[in-house]
Amino acid sequence: MTRELPRIKTNSQQFINFYVLFTLLVYNGSFFEKLQAIDNNLLFMLCGTIIIYGVLNVILNLLFVTERVTKILAISLVIGNAFAYYFMSSYNILIDKVMILNVIRTNIYEASDLFQWKLPFIILGLGIIPALVISRCTITFQPWKQELKLRLKQSGIIAVIIGLIIGISPQRFKDIANNHYELRYALVPSNYIGAIIGVSKMHKELTRPYQAIATDAYVEKYWHNDKKNLFVFVVGETARAANFSLGNYQRDTNAALKEYKDELIYYPQFYACGTSTAVAVPCMFSKDGRQDFVTGSELNQGNLTDVMQNNGYHSLWRDNNTGCQDNCNRIEYEEACMGKNCLDNVLLKGLENKLKKINQNTFLVLHQRGSHGPDYFNRYPQDREAPYQPICKDAGLKSCSREELLNAYDNSIHYTSEFLQQLIKLLKGFEKDYNIVMIYASDHGESLGEGGKYLHAYPYDSAPEEQKHIPALLWFPQSTAQDLRINKQCLRRQAESYHSHDNLFHSFLGLAGIKSSVYKEELDIFAPCQTRKD
Ligand SMILES: [Zn+2]
Repeated sequence: MTRELPRIKTNSQQFINFYVLFTLLVYNGSFFEKLQAIDNNLLFMLCGTIIIYGVLNVILNLLFVTERVTKILAISLVIGNAFAYYFMSSYNILIDKVMILNVIRTNIYEASDLFQWKLPFIILGLGIIPALVISRCTITFQPWKQELKLRLKQSGIIAVIIGLIIGISPQRFKDIANNHYELRYALVPSNYIGAIIGVSKMHKELTRPYQAIATDAYVEKYWHNDKKNLFVFVVGETARAANFSLGNYQRDTNAALKEYKDELIYYPQFYACGTSTAVAVPCMFSKDGRQDFVTGSELNQGNLTDVMQNNGYHSLWRDNNTGCQDNCNRIEYEEACMGKNCLDNVLLKGLENKLKKINQNTFLVLHQRGSHGPDYFNRYPQDREAPYQPICKDAGLKSCSREELLNAYDNSIHYTSEFLQQLIKLLKGFEKDYNIVMIYASDHGESLGEGGKYLHAYPYDSAPEEQKHIPALLWFPQSTAQDLRINKQCLRRQAESYHSHDNLFHSFLGLAGIKSSVYKEELDIFAPCQTRKD
């Protein structure tokens, strides 16, 4: 025999008041932490809470207009809130348009890394159970005229209270609104609702017809040998500059690259143009720099791979990540791993034969899985002892000590160095027939608990340094330096100054001898150190 759950009788105003309070107290720990970080003062916190309570209350008074509508919205929101709470509390992330875009573009395999054992409990406890309780409510509404009057009165009182609070110090509240974006992206549910609306607005961008770029381009051969060119672009993943020994990190995470020290040039001040794969990778291949780049434009606008391909360079994208993010739509693409958890050396499998077969000017992109978290311990070989122990083996991150977390992450960087070492070794085999240049740049950095932050994808303007400051390096053999007439000392000097992803598109074009109106010489890192004219 089944017994029905008891029904809860309430009226619309009681329901709205309680619902707002429940939303603030249960799902918004992260928001209040951020508010407290701005000013740890009781009065300030109280004022902030009243304002947010009031605003949410007014919005729900506009939306919760009949019992049916109220229940559908309230239930949908508690389920959405539970998911938002899980991700925000587990990884201390913020939710914005880019974060939602990342979720859409991430494959199931990568997403599974983010799900921990506590997810079903949180969804049950903070999503399904509240939804069941709401479904058992009988919410009475007054006749619509009285209901409207009541709501207008309540909203009016709230507006006056908010006005009085802001009136105490309007400039202070204005500053907070302008300078603390993190509050907006931390407030549940408005953060994910705003983000979903933002992504759906991108629809226009996504459905624009394809537009080729650099249609005026041509190649001016400046090299004085008959060798072909082989330009390799290693797109790193989640490597941050702070943990590269080439950039003075105290641990020798780049040990494997020591033997090529004289042929490497490291860029100690290189910055990403996004803090997530979905933004940074397309931006790395775009002709537009960070300021002008429009997320989504990669779907219908040509990029670096197209320009190289259209100018006689066989362009090949080999992937061990979540795909090429629409940057290889018109060139050859190879999925190196086929859905399993592969180490990056899979990118080198059969590469030698492949390059021999191509046998022409080549632009090769290798898209690493690099140091993608939170399971850093899966990013390096398990069949031998990794250099840094003990390690964090919990994708939850927060349960690990900082040392364990750094150890696991540093092991992944150590392995990236080994991968680059193997790649260089392989490329050296082509030195006789090719001018070879390899550029490595990570897509974005990572937070490893600094300021309580983990992972990446923070909104760019408020993102911590660790998510934006990335490692980048160049490698080319001495023979290429001579044949492409690159002045290495000059490049080394230049490398010390500020560079960013904005430099990549133009540097590859310059290197390849491609002339076009889209090319900007001032962004080409080789231009000042290379003799391209007789
Ligand atoms: Zn990434």
